[in-house]
Amino acid sequence: MKTADVLVVGGGPAGSMTAWLLARAGCQVVLCEAHAVLPARVCGMYLCPAGVALLERVGMRARVEAGARSLHGMIMVSPSLHRLETRFPRDVEAPDHGLALPRPALDNALLEAAREAGVVVRMGVRPALERVAGRWVATAPDFEPVAARVLVGADGRKSSTARMLGLSLPVRRSRAAIHIDRPSRQATSPFGQMHVFADGTYIGVNPIHADTVNVSLVCDPAELRATSVVEAINRRLALSPYLAALIEPLPDGVRPGATFPASARVRRAATEDAALVGDASGYIDPLTGEGIYAALWTADELATGLMAGWSDVPAALAGYARMRARRQRAKSLLCELFQTCIRRPWLADSILQLLSRQQAVADSFIGIVGNSYPPGRGLMRIAGHALASF
Ligand SMILES: Cc1cc2nc3c(=O)[nH]c(=O)nc-3n(C[C@H](O)[C@H](O)[C@H](O)COP(=O)(O)OP(=O)(O)OC[C@H]3O[C@@H](n4cnc5c(N)ncnc54)[C@H](O)[C@@H]3O)c2cc1C
Repeated sequence: MKTADVLVVGGGPAGSMTAWLLARAGCQVVLCEAHAVLPARVCGMYLCPAGVALLERVGMRARVEAGARSLHGMIMVSPSLHRLETRFPRDVEAPDHGLALPRPALDNALLEAAREAGVVVRMGVRPALERVAGRWVATAPDFEPVAARVLVGADGRKSSTARMLGLSLPVRRSRAAIHIDRPSRQATSPFGQMHVFADGTYIGVNPIHADTVNVSLVCDPAELRATSVVEAINRRLALSPYLAALIEPLPDGVRPGATFPASARVRRAATEDAALVGDASGYIDPLTGEGIYAALWTADELATGLMAGWSDVPAALAGYARMRARRQRAKSLLCELFQTCIRRPWLADSILQLLSRQQAVADSFIGIVGNSYPPGRGLMRIAGHALASF
């Protein structure tokens, strides 16, 4: 039997980042990934400015940015086709741009870094886990069993690790998501786009290359019971002149990726000898493009806490769980607020029109969404700009 300090289940951004940071700090880490080769993901592939800052801080930015495109802001289009262009704020610690990050290139870059740092990576392994004499033991066919002190579940929204630990909760208001990369009809500008429809369905567009866009549609699952995923996208493209000008209707025969549910909830993010990171530790909705950033920062917080508190793992993991809950709370409130707005077209229209009145307010708003500053500080900035204009 192989022994390790930490066993990581899942080789997406959260798992690879956790494994890399721990191995770099001297831990013995084994990572198991269910796929033999990392697959394409249903993902908008946008990383917010705070995510770019985090990559810079841990020394991973140059490696990840190599295949990426800088995004300078977001274009938002309301149900009544009101269009607002925003720019990420300049005068803050986070950079004034996010990234369009093709996947699985991002995932592969992080996994490769983990391997180089000494992580033992086992691809094509979905381990069975049990606790034996105070250790987590992982077994699988054709796989040397591993016994580890700490287990990290980084296995995504449908985390079997969270379920096995008794931490997962039923999702509240679940939506379905469809994703496809398409050639664009015109050269794309370096701005992400969010198109909201009257029934709360939305389409995110990420210009991953000058001539290619990543299209993600998020809708109530009932919509996909009545129609095919290709028809669902084409119907929405036809409803928006902005989208129709950018993307041709999908021909028959293309196969968009689809996923359900597009959210995950957990009771808490750790037990006394196991922790959850990334989507496995909770995910609200793709609307604000939080997922990759959350995968990176939860990995960073867990690895930092564990390395500092290795002599008292239960306390270190309890600290991580508290921090995860605290950081999530403010953002969750904001996301719930956005969800409420986009399900009421008159409200979404009014807010966009209000933001349009002052560019600085609109840019501060997108700074909150992009995590350029915490929501409270962002709201103060908005209030400051609004007062200054009186
Ligand atoms: C439609 C849509 C659009 C999105 N757009 C964006 C966006 O623009 N920006 C953004 O930041 N986020 C976006 N997200 C979210 C983002 O994709 C996720 O938050 C991110 O991938 C989370 O990374 P992760 O490592 O936690 O999980 P994942 O990327 O899901 O990786 C989990 C890994 O665990 C593996 N695994 C699962 N079970 C096991 C097991 N039992 N054993 C071993 N391995 C296992 C899987 O194969 C997978 O490789 C979007 C999500 C959706 C649905």
